Amino acid sequence: MPEALPVATIRTQVTVPLAFPDGYTTTARVFTFKGLVDGREHLALGLGDWAGALDRLAAGGAAPLVRPHSECLTGDVFGSQRCDCGPQLREAVQRIAETGGFLLYLRQEGRGIGLYAKLDAYALQDAGLDTYQANVALGRGEDERDYTAAAQMLATLGVPRVRLLSSNPDKAEQLTRLGVDVVERVLTSVFLSPANADYLAAKAAKAAEVEAAEAVEAADVLAGRAPERPVSR
Ligand SMILES: [Zn+2]
Repeated sequence: MPEALPVATIRTQVTVPLAFPDGYTTTARVFTFKGLVDGREHLALGLGDWAGALDRLAAGGAAPLVRPHSECLTGDVFGSQRCDCGPQLREAVQRIAETGGFLLYLRQEGRGIGLYAKLDAYALQDAGLDTYQANVALGRGEDERDYTAAAQMLATLGVPRVRLLSSNPDKAEQLTRLGVDVVERVLTSVFLSPANADYLAAKAAKAAEVEAAEAVEAADVLAGRAPERPVSR
C-alpha cells in the first residue's frame, strides 16, 4: 500500500528561458510549492509541451517523461568532472523538452548529506573509499535521498503516472511505494570521463545490488514468503 502523502499546493509558476553553455535553448515553466514535507525549496520544471502531456495523461493517454534530479552544485553549476550530474541534467532537459514532461530539481545535495559533507566524502574517496563507503565513514547513510517531496510535487501537478527518466532503481522503488505509477523506466546515458570512472563504477555496482535484492524480494513474494530484510539503499 502506498504511504499517505501530505497534500502540497502550487505557490508560484513562472516562465524562465534557459540557455545552456553548449548553445541549447528551451523554455521552462518553473513551479514552486507550499507544503512539501521537508520544507526545502524544490522546483518542478515543465518542459516542452508539458501542458499537452498533462492533457493526454488526463485523457488516459501516455504518461509524461519525468526526471527527479538531485541537486549537485559542483556538477550542475561548475561542470565538475568527479561525477556525471551536469551532463545528465543537460540531457534530461532536452529529452523531456522533446516529448513534454517535468524535471524535478530536488535540493538534496551529495546523496542527501549536504554540500560540505559531500566534499568531505571526496577527500575520503581520494584516500581510496568509493562514494558509498565514504558517506558511511562520515557517519551518514550510503544514500540519504528521499523522494517524498518529488511524489508530492507530481501529485500536485496532476501526474499520477510517469515514464521515469533514471538509471537508479531506488528512485523507481521509492516513487512506486509513494503511490506514483512508474509505467516505464527510461535509462539515462552514461557520461564517462577519466575523473568519474571510479564513481560511475560504484554507482553501477550499487544499482545492480539493489536490482538483485528486489529480484530476491519479488521471488519471495511469489513463493509466499515474507522478505527477510528490507531492500538496501
Ligand atoms: Zn554530481
